[in-house]
Amino acid sequence: TAGLTQGARAEATIDLGALRDNLAALRDRTGGPELMAVVKADAYGHGAVRCAREAVAAGARWLGTATPEEALALRAAGIGPEQARVLCWLWTPGGPWREAVRAEVDISVSGRWALDELLAAVRETGVPARVHLKADTGLGRNGCQPHDWPDLVAAALRAQAEGLLRVVGIWSHFACADEPGHPSIQLQLDSFAAALEHAERAGVRPEVRHLANSPATLTLPQSHYDLVRPGLAMYGLSPVPEVGAPADFGLRPVMSLSARLALVKTVPGGHGISYGHHYTTSGPTTLGLVPVGYADGVPRHASNAGPVQIGGTWYTVAGRVAMDQFVVDLGGDAPEVGEEVLLFGSGEHGEPTAEDWGRACGTISYEIITRIGARVPRRYV
Ligand code: PLP
Repeated sequence: TAGLTQGARAEATIDLGALRDNLAALRDRTGGPELMAVVKADAYGHGAVRCAREAVAAGARWLGTATPEEALALRAAGIGPEQARVLCWLWTPGGPWREAVRAEVDISVSGRWALDELLAAVRETGVPARVHLKADTGLGRNGCQPHDWPDLVAAALRAQAEGLLRVVGIWSHFACADEPGHPSIQLQLDSFAAALEHAERAGVRPEVRHLANSPATLTLPQSHYDLVRPGLAMYGLSPVPEVGAPADFGLRPVMSLSARLALVKTVPGGHGISYGHHYTTSGPTTLGLVPVGYADGVPRHASNAGPVQIGGTWYTVAGRVAMDQFVVDLGGDAPEVGEEVLLFGSGEHGEPTAEDWGRACGTISYEIITRIGARVPRRYV
């Protein structure tokens, strides 16, 4: 087991060695392209600054965030432009664009409105922006539609000629890369090639062309271009669980989550358990109280479903997950108060994984790990 720190109620253990090994495995698998370590959302719950530093030390020269605030926090922690380029891609009007430009944060631009606001920030600061033009190649979320692309490219090139910005990247994002063989994948590859061809014909000379998230990094070499942007895979989880488990890709989960068994007691049969009594004991039994709940990121959807391991045995959440605690029905077993309850880990020792929790809760492992709350201390090993 991960070995809960003395006195800890709950703890997420972050195995930085696994993070380094995963990055090495991804590099071995992809060969040529640069790696952008995606560290948005506090590095998927693992701790953005710690993971970013580790990724940079392991050779990643790019970091990816959603918001400019996340990118600026990396710069504020001392990760300078000479150590890592940081790209933020979630444009919101009125964001800290002046600060981002000054900090040499790369900025994704999906349309003229964003470009115009960015140029205002550039004129105020006197610092040229580093821009990645984002094409909507089929995701239908962020990015510039093909019919607006020539106009965006032309506007960016005019600003570049005036010394206001540099078009550093051309890029896009997949909708269904986690479903290998999905027809949208080839359509997006074709659309990206067309957007790129147009931009290059117009005179853009991007340093990096990039498209691949974790599933594409693992399963779609033709999408790699100059740089791949793995998030989930770097944290050691499989983005394509139907295709392979982490170990099949040489990956190892980085995060484990444990709590300390807080109470063990016997109850008679027919006893309702937790709010709403959605579980009733089928006979006299022993209950264990696990002191973590939905305020810690244990999904309420795990009620009567989430798996835990105590002393090598799996149990299931009995009744509803509450804000700070849930119950397991231990049957005839009687582990001791204070024992470690492993919610998820690498799976190497037979414990449940974040993937198991995702399945139990009708969601994906991404949501399980990113939602582990701030109340749970992270321990780095
Ligand atoms: N690139 C972009 C634009 C993203 O939004 C994300 C995350 O959703 C990623 C890359 C990384 O995705 P994944 O965790 O599937 O590798």
